Amino acid sequence: MIPYGKQDITEQDKEQILRILNSDFLTQGPQVPLFETKIAEYCNVKHAVASNSGTSSLHLACLALGLQEGDLVWTTPITFVASANCALYCKADIDFVDIDRHTFNICVKALQSKLQEARRLGKLPKIVIVVHMGGFPIDMKEIKNLSDKYGFRIIEDACHAIGSTYEKTQTGCCKFSDITIFSFHPVKLITTIEGGIATTNDSQLARNMQLLRSHGITRDDAEITRKAEPWYYEQQFLGYNYRMNDVQAALGISQLSRLDQYVNQRRQLASSYIRELEELPLSVQHEIKETRSAYHLFIIRINSSDVKNSNTFIIEQLRKKKIHANLHYIPVHTQPYFQKLGFKMGAYPEAELYYREALTLPLFPKLSIDDQSYIIQCLKDLI
Ligand SMILES: *Cc1c(COP(=O)(O)O)cnc(C)c1O
Repeated sequence: MIPYGKQDITEQDKEQILRILNSDFLTQGPQVPLFETKIAEYCNVKHAVASNSGTSSLHLACLALGLQEGDLVWTTPITFVASANCALYCKADIDFVDIDRHTFNICVKALQSKLQEARRLGKLPKIVIVVHMGGFPIDMKEIKNLSDKYGFRIIEDACHAIGSTYEKTQTGCCKFSDITIFSFHPVKLITTIEGGIATTNDSQLARNMQLLRSHGITRDDAEITRKAEPWYYEQQFLGYNYRMNDVQAALGISQLSRLDQYVNQRRQLASSYIRELEELPLSVQHEIKETRSAYHLFIIRINSSDVKNSNTFIIEQLRKKKIHANLHYIPVHTQPYFQKLGFKMGAYPEAELYYREALTLPLFPKLSIDDQSYIIQCLKDLI
């Protein structure tokens, strides 16, 4: 089976993992701060706070921004469920904004009109979580303008988008947002097996996330409330154990050294797909001006009015031919859990149309030219 995505683990990665296993610290040692420094340098941002998953980092980001019961978070329905669940963990309410037909990202116009309406009703969101779907950066200046006008905070769910750029800035620099989140799950661009990180330029937000990822405990003299014995520590908030360990961080450092190469390989494979599929009645994801996608996913849309076969049929046929095509994502509001929360089918028509037309083709750095030609040929035969 050709998977839709696959990690690349090298001898260098394995050596680094062994080195840490043979060292004094398996967790809470020097590797996590080192990984954080390297990510911060890569993204040109002041702080990075690692955790045990992208989902944990999203939760920490919401907590650090003070999200609580009665608050409202908006995100896109075309994302992994974690982008919405992080709000629910904080007992806040979640709502969605429909997507743009061409970028597959949250639609800026739809966001703008929903904000206008929300202001009228006195129900503005505290946080908007934008997702750079497939690694394609959204127009962050527009989002920032709306945030200035309507007073919401911005989290970038960039779980697909480490290595992408927007107007020559690296995604994760937080020039136009409060916090950016990356995931290092094996299907993502680089991996720490499981793992995530949050970047920010705000030192208070970074400190909040550091405390909350480790039980809300501090050992810092400047923070503890009384003169302390050397063994003293203090729990000041209800935190979690969301720590990344040293083995993961060392793997992350090793992987990060190949990130730019990976993105280049992904972009090359993507341009072959685009060239070869040009004549078929389908569309590809639109890369907006002055952005460079990291191409975490290669998504096509079958134009349902031109093609008799549905995306479901094509995915099934490709899988019979040992090509693991996939669909990212099932619109979050259509999940049974969200239906129970009161979301209705038909509420986000663009997201639902996307779901009937989209499919994800295999794309990862080590996808061979032969395998890619086979995928392209199978697709041409089917459509
Ligand atoms: C993968 C992913 C997450 C969650 O990351 P984990 O590391 O698997 O917890 C969140 N949001 C998006 C958009 C993702 O793709």
